[in-house]
Amino acid sequence: MFRIRRVYDSSFPSSLETIEQVKKILRDQFPGLDESDIAKINDQLVNPLKHRFRSILFVADDSSRRVKGFALLMHASDLNFCYLDFISAARFVVGRGIGSALYDKVREEALALGTIGVFFECLPDDPALCRDREALKQNASRLRFYERYGIRPICNTAYETPVREGDDCPPYLMFDGLGLNKPLFRARAKEIVRAILERKYGNVCPKSYVETVVHSFKDDPVRFREYRYSGKEIPPGVKINNTGGMPIALVINEKHDIHHVSDRGYVESPIRIKSILREIIPTGIFELLEPKNYTEKHIRAVHDGAFVDYLKKVCNNVPGNQSIYPYVFPIRNATRPPVELPVRAGYYCIDTFTPLNHNAFLAAKRAVDCTLTAADKILEGYPIAYSLVRPPGHHAERRAFGGFCYFNSAAIAAHYLSAYGKVAILDIDFHHGNGQENIFYKRNDVLTVSIHGHPRFAYPYFTGFSDETGEGSGTGFNINFPLPEHVDGVTYREFLGKALGRIRKFSPKFLVVALGLDTAKGDPTGTWSLGPKDFAENGALIGYLRYPTLVVQEGGYKARSLGINARNFFRGMWAKYHFPNAPEKKESKN
Ligand SMILES: [Zn+2]
Repeated sequence: MFRIRRVYDSSFPSSLETIEQVKKILRDQFPGLDESDIAKINDQLVNPLKHRFRSILFVADDSSRRVKGFALLMHASDLNFCYLDFISAARFVVGRGIGSALYDKVREEALALGTIGVFFECLPDDPALCRDREALKQNASRLRFYERYGIRPICNTAYETPVREGDDCPPYLMFDGLGLNKPLFRARAKEIVRAILERKYGNVCPKSYVETVVHSFKDDPVRFREYRYSGKEIPPGVKINNTGGMPIALVINEKHDIHHVSDRGYVESPIRIKSILREIIPTGIFELLEPKNYTEKHIRAVHDGAFVDYLKKVCNNVPGNQSIYPYVFPIRNATRPPVELPVRAGYYCIDTFTPLNHNAFLAAKRAVDCTLTAADKILEGYPIAYSLVRPPGHHAERRAFGGFCYFNSAAIAAHYLSAYGKVAILDIDFHHGNGQENIFYKRNDVLTVSIHGHPRFAYPYFTGFSDETGEGSGTGFNINFPLPEHVDGVTYREFLGKALGRIRKFSPKFLVVALGLDTAKGDPTGTWSLGPKDFAENGALIGYLRYPTLVVQEGGYKARSLGINARNFFRGMWAKYHFPNAPEKKESKN
């Protein structure tokens, strides 16, 4: 088993370890490679300007992070193309599965970036160019592999001229047009070939060589070699939907309805998920993915161990159809938790309306599994993932539950992602995201931002003030925007703009959005008046940042409008992420 994920930053210990394994594969599989070129990878990942390519590293690894293969893709945004620098499986890997999965990933990324295609080099299968019989066989098998995608060498140019006379095996230049069926015009090809030779091989190719190769491009459009191996097969194409951008990875808590508090007035009910699904699935921009199981260690990384133990035990002990509501709150003597489990509820809870029942722990644990699965999809390279779960989580603090929340799924995922790069959490629920604030209050690698009803009138009443800015090294990394009782879409966006500006300044690798839909007009728990169009615009503003974004479902209780607002939010976000410069389209109002 393996998963494919993107390595975002070389400055984190876990990423460094992964990059070392990538380097080992390079040394094993490309013995002629210069050690200085291998050492360059760390710098390439963090310093795109210097190398005039933005480097994107994908690795295929297993759950113990053993790297089985990798692809290093370079993106030249100025000329709008990608160059695949390396793609290789580790020496111990047999079979083609990893290579083709990595190559599919490369194509998806090139397409999502809106480039014209992927260029790369392939050693020749022509005996006149390659004297080594063994190598010749291997090269032929590689070219056969790419022909399956419809990719062949560009022909009738001097690209495969050895840099030094007598060098064996000069590579072909290959071009993958990603199934877009657009011709590659000469002028464009010349610019790109010059960029490849200068940026990638500037230190080995003399100027005169570059000129000779560039001017050898005469055909317009560029021509490709005839099919040699496969006959003209239909290329498998890129696995994307017909709308032209990578879909949103959607993970649903299929066990959400085991948690059903039927007490009168309990608005956090199973119908919420159904209402949302009904509206978002027909958009065609979601790909439904199975949740996986994760160990409790991820929960314990952000929640107090005794608190987790307590929830597990007490829920397990509550008879099937009963609910325990906290009723004693030992706020004075933290050293003496009440002995009786049901009485102890208030020791770990912030309010009187979040009950414990037999399935609360199981449902909350599953919500965490879903959210971690969605986070892994982000690491695999999905630009947007949506964890559609209940119970919600953003009111759950390190050692407290409340506000219908038990475990803080968004915070657990944010902590998980923080091993790969800085994370910003944006909480756009009507109520303050006190859980994340509490969990990350002293940290500066996870920025927490929340826009919510002022605590003087809105739950949770005791946090969410603007002077809560963090503590110790976390000072300045918690931002609250408490807003008045009556807010419309226009006013809301003023503050959303400010929040996003602060996030951009922080420059995170990942964004986690705690999505509450209770900012909508008529929500029984809120007082604001956002309409469907506002949700589309809010989504677009967030999508425009183009951070890999994990969205986690929090509140929102007006069943009739939940789905429409969610649909508009994601449509706006997805469209802006993939087509940032497209003209505005009117989102539907109903
Ligand atoms: Zn809420």
